[in-house]
Amino acid sequence: MLELDQHPSGRHFLQIPGPSPVPDRILRAMSLPTIDHRGPEFGELGLKVLGGIRKIFQTQHPVIIYPASGTGAWEAALSNTLSPGDSVLMFETGHFATLWKQMALRLGLEPEFLSLPASQSWRHGVQPQLIEARLQEDREHRIKAVCVVHNETSTGVTSDISAVRRAIDAADHPALLLVDTISGLASADYRHDEWGVDVSVSGSQKGLMLPPGISFNALSPKAIEASQRSTMPRGFWAWDEILTANANGYWPYTPNTNLLYGLGEALDMLLGEGLEQVFARHERWGEGVRRAVNAWGLEIQCQEPALYSPVLTGVVTPEGIDADEVRRTIYDRFDLSLGTGLGKAKGRMFRIGHLGDCNDLTLIATLGGCEAGLKLCGVELFGSGMQAALDFFADNPAPGTPAARKLAADDPTGQPQADAARA
Ligand SMILES: *Cc1c(COP(=O)(O)O)cnc(C)c1O
Repeated sequence: MLELDQHPSGRHFLQIPGPSPVPDRILRAMSLPTIDHRGPEFGELGLKVLGGIRKIFQTQHPVIIYPASGTGAWEAALSNTLSPGDSVLMFETGHFATLWKQMALRLGLEPEFLSLPASQSWRHGVQPQLIEARLQEDREHRIKAVCVVHNETSTGVTSDISAVRRAIDAADHPALLLVDTISGLASADYRHDEWGVDVSVSGSQKGLMLPPGISFNALSPKAIEASQRSTMPRGFWAWDEILTANANGYWPYTPNTNLLYGLGEALDMLLGEGLEQVFARHERWGEGVRRAVNAWGLEIQCQEPALYSPVLTGVVTPEGIDADEVRRTIYDRFDLSLGTGLGKAKGRMFRIGHLGDCNDLTLIATLGGCEAGLKLCGVELFGSGMQAALDFFADNPAPGTPAARKLAADDPTGQPQADAARA
């Protein structure tokens, strides 16, 4: 432990893929006095955040807000829609998909876990054709839900959720589609209604730029119907009482008032900027960071360029180099936190978060810390990743800035390079 009087100067660089750095504006909003959660002022706040969050999920349907971490919202999605002994089809994209499957087991469900062979495992997205083939076989419709992770935070690989919906429809199967977008929402494009998702699960401390402590279930009419038939025991998580109270902006219990102030502020910021620009901003940061990793000559965990996460990048360390040693060195020397390798990836990779209250230069500093730390740990780098990212950022001004508008006016057909690289 650091002595208090040895607290490092300047800001800590919190470049893990959640919790993400919280903007000062949000911290200030959260410092307002806690109010009566049954009073008139509270109902206004409740209605504001319950309405605004629908726009973030891109849904017309209700979104439940729990005073809980994302794990709670996972449990809520399963326990409201399913019954003990139900089969659920899940896909092993990485550590978080694995944890969700373990929770399904604890709840008395029967998860079936589809995986790729070990050599490809954790480096690709959900394979919709495998889901479709498995559902085709399930003539008796024993499988009640398909559960997948949209942005696998342990690997930096996204999945094509609309393709999973098409797979379910192609098999003409009634299973519900439950999606974890805990780390994808509000950074990566996500469309609850258009993609035909029945329950979307999310949390506060990733793309929404809030501290940990609230989480979400976005619902579909079919999910609400399923909740009226499902027999899994549930109390705190039960949607029905919450939906009734939410109609007037209240909760059946004491909600997390100060985090809801923060959520109100986050909604103003994100919707004010416009979701398209929010997504473009993260795509561009992801491209800059990947250019750095390529310039170092290191490997990116994600093997499918179309599925690169705009939220984080998993960097594989060379054989014989312990990624956690690299992380420790960078933390000790430069006051910079990076994500650890989780589960099967422990020691083999570290993760750079590029979400939350970042900008080009905080990412350049982050990449500088990585570069120096890798060298200190004896990794021979091909070239300077920091310089490669800086060149990319300089050549491609941030979306919404005067420089980007000028560039667009000069060349109206010009595609930002980040898009071109992904296409
Ligand atoms: C962070 C995360 C979780 C877990 O959320 P908690 O808030 O830590 O409970 C689950 N799934 C994914 C994809 C995540 O990124």
